[in-house]
Amino acid sequence: MLFFVRQGVILFPDSAIGGRIMLSVHRISIPTPYPVGPVNAYLIKGDPLTMVDCGPDTPEAREVLTAGLKEQGVSPEDIKRIVLTHAHPDHSGMAQWLWKESGAEVYVHPYEYRKITGEQDFIKERLPFIVKMGIPMNILLEMAGDRDKVPRPTLSGVNTVAVTGGEKLRFDGREMDIMHLPGHATGHICLYDSREGELFSGDFLLLDITPNPLLEADPENPERRYPSLSRYLECLELVDGLGIKRALPGHGGIIEDPGAVIASSREHHQRRFDRLLEILGDNGKMNTYNISSTMYPDLRGFHIFLGLSEVQAHLDVLLEQGCIKVEYSQGVAFYLKAPGE
Ligand SMILES: [Zn+2]
Ligand SMILES: [Zn+2]
Repeated sequence: MLFFVRQGVILFPDSAIGGRIMLSVHRISIPTPYPVGPVNAYLIKGDPLTMVDCGPDTPEAREVLTAGLKEQGVSPEDIKRIVLTHAHPDHSGMAQWLWKESGAEVYVHPYEYRKITGEQDFIKERLPFIVKMGIPMNILLEMAGDRDKVPRPTLSGVNTVAVTGGEKLRFDGREMDIMHLPGHATGHICLYDSREGELFSGDFLLLDITPNPLLEADPENPERRYPSLSRYLECLELVDGLGIKRALPGHGGIIEDPGAVIASSREHHQRRFDRLLEILGDNGKMNTYNISSTMYPDLRGFHIFLGLSEVQAHLDVLLEQGCIKVEYSQGVAFYLKAPGE
């Protein structure tokens, strides 16, 4: 279960302590129509006035964001900079509107920019991978028919700043590192304040849920599947090594013990690997759809795609590790345990 938070919680004092300039950060919890629940947008009251993510573009979300900003004495037109952790509509949807109100620059990874602007076709780029999964036609139609009711995000005419990780996000007297931490999305970025040990983690690290390693084409080689989960697990190692003190996630409560969340995320994935090997051990050769419907029999609509993504990402890691093999029959990939596994 997600832990929902009050909006407008002051996380840090807006003052100079021990000669250091402290940035005041305010969380605004914005409703979304998605099962994940509200999304967290963060207002960083530094110079320039910055938002990290902004919520979906629905009338209700605009109202809540405007009210949350007002509580801090800020109006939408005051925002100077918007950082989008990734393109998913619950995080990026309102960027276009906020830009119209404010003329703020929007910082986004180029891989995510292509998704928001529609340069990248969600279905077309995934189709070659989807056909290999052995999905029955009625299920394909069910997934394709489950369209998002929220208007697709756009960034038309918006001043965007492309960031790929490694840059500094500067404030007057402070700076944060922009980190590229893919896996949930190919161009997912986080902000790391190394002096305070704080990570604005987007959907990279969440308190009670493990982000879905979504099926995507590799932006550098669209013929191949992006190795979402192996990249994600590498990024977890990297962030674990930073020894961050807390994380400010895109959903749910503040993460006060990031090390524990990272450990439980690793355990979660290990359990999935074990379960997959068990299913293949019991059933022999199976395609991705058969495995997914065995593991997640109750999924419907778009959630079937999320289940397939989860299974495919784990299969890809097991393949990389040599624990399983793949054989093709009539264009469909079938997986089986490698001898000795
Ligand atoms: Zn997301
Ligand atoms: Zn999200």
